[in-house]
Amino acid sequence: MKFNIYAFAFTLVAANTIAVYSEPANFDVINALASYGLHVDSVARKRAEDSVSSRYHCATACNQLASHFKSQILPAGTSAYDEWRSQFWSSYQQDALPKCIFQPSKADHVVIAVLLSRWSHCPFAVKSGGHAAMKEASSATCGITIDMAKLNSIVLANDKKIAKIGPGDTWYDVFTKLESEGVSVVGGRVQNVGVGGFLLGGGISLFANERGWACDNVANYELVTAIGAVLHVNQSSYPDLYRSLRGGGPNFGLIHGGSMTYHYPSQHQAYREAHKRLDFISVLAVDNDANPNTTAFDEFKDIAALSDTRKVRTQSDLAAENGAPLPNGMREHYWDQTFRFDGNFVKWMGEVFYEELNPIKKSIEGLMVMLLFQPVTRESVRKMQRNGGNTLPLVEREAPYVIINYAAMWSKPTVEDESIVVDTVSKTMGRIVEEGKRRKLFVDYIYMNYGSEYSDVLASYGPKLHHQLEVVATQVDPVGVFQYLRSGYFKFGGPPRTRGHETIPSPHVRNH
Ligand SMILES: Cc1cc2nc3c(=O)[nH]c(=O)nc-3n(C[C@H](O)[C@H](O)[C@H](O)COP(=O)(O)OP(=O)(O)OC[C@H]3O[C@@H](n4cnc5c(N)ncnc54)[C@H](O)[C@@H]3O)c2cc1C
Repeated sequence: MKFNIYAFAFTLVAANTIAVYSEPANFDVINALASYGLHVDSVARKRAEDSVSSRYHCATACNQLASHFKSQILPAGTSAYDEWRSQFWSSYQQDALPKCIFQPSKADHVVIAVLLSRWSHCPFAVKSGGHAAMKEASSATCGITIDMAKLNSIVLANDKKIAKIGPGDTWYDVFTKLESEGVSVVGGRVQNVGVGGFLLGGGISLFANERGWACDNVANYELVTAIGAVLHVNQSSYPDLYRSLRGGGPNFGLIHGGSMTYHYPSQHQAYREAHKRLDFISVLAVDNDANPNTTAFDEFKDIAALSDTRKVRTQSDLAAENGAPLPNGMREHYWDQTFRFDGNFVKWMGEVFYEELNPIKKSIEGLMVMLLFQPVTRESVRKMQRNGGNTLPLVEREAPYVIINYAAMWSKPTVEDESIVVDTVSKTMGRIVEEGKRRKLFVDYIYMNYGSEYSDVLASYGPKLHHQLEVVATQVDPVGVFQYLRSGYFKFGGPPRTRGHETIPSPHVRNH
């Protein structure tokens, strides 16, 4: 299929909207809930304020949701609840046992879920495609898990230049729907990865060279804030917030709508270099000319291929092929680090990878590991600057970069296996970082979408960007609903592993 380049956006924003969004100081969550027809009583609120444990109040919040949205709640103890949990890609996420699972079907429902969580101090999580590897990233034990699955519309405008894409979509859904109209967007490379998490962390696509990362192709975010305001966030309305959402993760609100653009890359040098220096490598490269006789891959021809699946194909077809060997329900551990690209260093990393892996590989049941080299070319960094730029600490003059992603999966959910695998991954990455520093190739940037729960992703953006992000997050969410009540994943103040369940600090409780 021949693609063209299309820009997508959802909503036009009036030119005179304010540039900075700040939560109003007199916000009252009970009044806000009442405006949606939910009259929560002050006794339950008092209990929420006094309680150390949030469990009781999660039951209250879930009951409220159930009484208003019966068909959109999956209660614990039902087969639908268990079936739902089994759909997570990583079995760590399947382990989380939410008090209730709520499936909003419009923005108001998302608002109500956020307000109820805030009112009851009940932890919440948001699930889009559920492909984050770590426990509690997108499902909250004893809390409310907000599953975006029903917010999955994909609407292409008549001129085919604007599309509205819901956070409940997977990239396969998006590609197949848009391909039927002869267009596509810059999205994920594996079919079941979700739109929400992928875009908030950055989003490396097949088309980074032409269009930057996927977040650089979002024209407008529809954001539900901690007070339940529904904002259209784009370069004209709230430029700082827009920039922060492009790579800053789920620290500012909850996305209930989004958008993309399309690209076709040319071959890039980084893959060629890496390919020359390793014994075994799987290369994923795309030539956008859709020409079966392309010469773009000629440099790979002299390497004997175990498998060669080159063909003229759609994005959805390739995403499905990439997803096929990656089953749901395994233990998963991801870890990554960025370096300036150097072919000899790539070769060295391959050697260290095997050196650390060999002693353990037979003792871990179902172990499958990959060291993925994600080149970030100068061209792609340049393209990231479009529309005001993103929030990632990548600069053109230091490119090309390579992001090293150690991906490990294994089948047995035992503490022993986990500790052996995680130690091996951590030791390997530690050695790689040390050597990268010695060779002056180390770049202090950890890509959120492949980040380990032991990594402080936001700190890796550097003091200046970290501070800017924190300022924006504090403006939009001064009480810290998305820091304290959102379960798991990357926040300010340390790696996910060190944070655990928290509650909103007491000075905020009475007024908010
Ligand atoms: C098999 C596989 C292939 C991958 N391929 C790529 C790739 O090609 N390129 C790449 O860059 N990355 C890739 N990744 C990494 C992927 O981008 C991240 O795992 C990403 O977080 C997945 O998004 P999700 O929506 O599926 O995950 P989820 O687990 O649903 O979400 C991840 C995080 O984002 C939050 N979140 C999700 N939706 C919203 C929302 N609407 N509003 C607020 N917060 C939200 C969640 O609460 C969670 O904390 C891949 C991962 C896997 C497992």
